[in-house]
Amino acid sequence: MSGTEPMGDGTRAVRAGLPEPVKYEPTLPGPVFAAHFHLPGEPTGPYTYGRDSNPTWTHLERAIGELEAPGEAVETVTFASGMAAISAVLFSQLRSGDTVVLPSDGYQALPLVREQLQAYGIAVRTAPTGGDAQLSVLAGARLLWIETPSNPGLDVCDIRRLVAAAHAQGALVAVDNTLATPMGQRPLELGADFSVASDTKGMTGHGDILLGHVSCRDAERAAEVRRWRKIVGAIPGPMEAWLAHRSLATLQLRSDRQCANALAVARALAPREEVTGLRHPGLPTDPSYALATRQMRRYGGVVSFVLPDRGHAERFLDALRLVDDATSFGGVRSSAERRGRWGGDAVPEGFIRFSAGAEDTADLVADVLRALDEAAGRARPRTP
Ligand SMILES: *Cc1c(COP(=O)(O)O)cnc(C)c1O
Repeated sequence: MSGTEPMGDGTRAVRAGLPEPVKYEPTLPGPVFAAHFHLPGEPTGPYTYGRDSNPTWTHLERAIGELEAPGEAVETVTFASGMAAISAVLFSQLRSGDTVVLPSDGYQALPLVREQLQAYGIAVRTAPTGGDAQLSVLAGARLLWIETPSNPGLDVCDIRRLVAAAHAQGALVAVDNTLATPMGQRPLELGADFSVASDTKGMTGHGDILLGHVSCRDAERAAEVRRWRKIVGAIPGPMEAWLAHRSLATLQLRSDRQCANALAVARALAPREEVTGLRHPGLPTDPSYALATRQMRRYGGVVSFVLPDRGHAERFLDALRLVDDATSFGGVRSSAERRGRWGGDAVPEGFIRFSAGAEDTADLVADVLRALDEAAGRARPRTP
């Protein structure tokens, strides 16, 4: 959307990527299902073949771009999943002989990506997100990959500071913005070259589609990422793209409720003696609070904490009634899981990643407190 007045996040979200109104046409055009488009003569133009382009992607990509960098010309490329988007940046930008810095505590599929990068002759260094520790292994790197807040540990690093150091030595910076979404943080405005996300999570928020995107300012880099999508063919289906665009309209509403619920759950967990390692960047006592407050616009809907052991964590998850025991996060229905069951993250057996949904805050907090009591073997009298 054009216009000179600065808009609020909610206004921007409901209007993001909408085409100019056309009489008798819907506000948001429906999904265009096409493997190919009518194309007599020269094979040019925006829509030729369905692996290269689709009008439903165009609308969604515009919408995401408007949210990632309001008022700026950025390019966005959508993908079939977050991993497709991540791989597209890494494998389109890095060459044999290059060095890349990844977080050591990032998304659990990053070690698989690391193996593949190394198999192609790309050197990989890792360091933790917290304390901006990636700075210590940055020398000579071609690309720095940041994930903040990190999943599942919820550590935060200083994007501006890392970008300044990386750019000073000619390295590119990509930020995995999955957890925050553009409602929580806008990496391009903080100086990053790429903002990348799994839109499977909070961005679309209903737990019913997989999707990812890459946004960047530089048209040449965007073209490289788009070219990678064409080669690998990791394209979103038109239905997924349309559902995603429809979901963006409520992104601000969902984010506000989810963030408020996460903070309320974190506050309810804080005084419990069986809870340790409580992390949520919006909790004023959190080690990341000051930095998160400087760089984030909302703190996200995820809370992590540790219960005494595996059995305790499983009893807690079993006892929850409003919270699904499921992986992923960012959905309108609260979910939680014992993260250690996957074996991929360096977390204690009793570690819980809790994703706050859009339930009424009082209901959600009451459910969590009741489940904690049940898990600890204390029955709570039901309140009328
Ligand atoms: C889920 C997730 C991914 C992977 O996204 P998919 O859509 O599952 O491929 C990448 N990064 C982070 C931080 C994630 O949480």
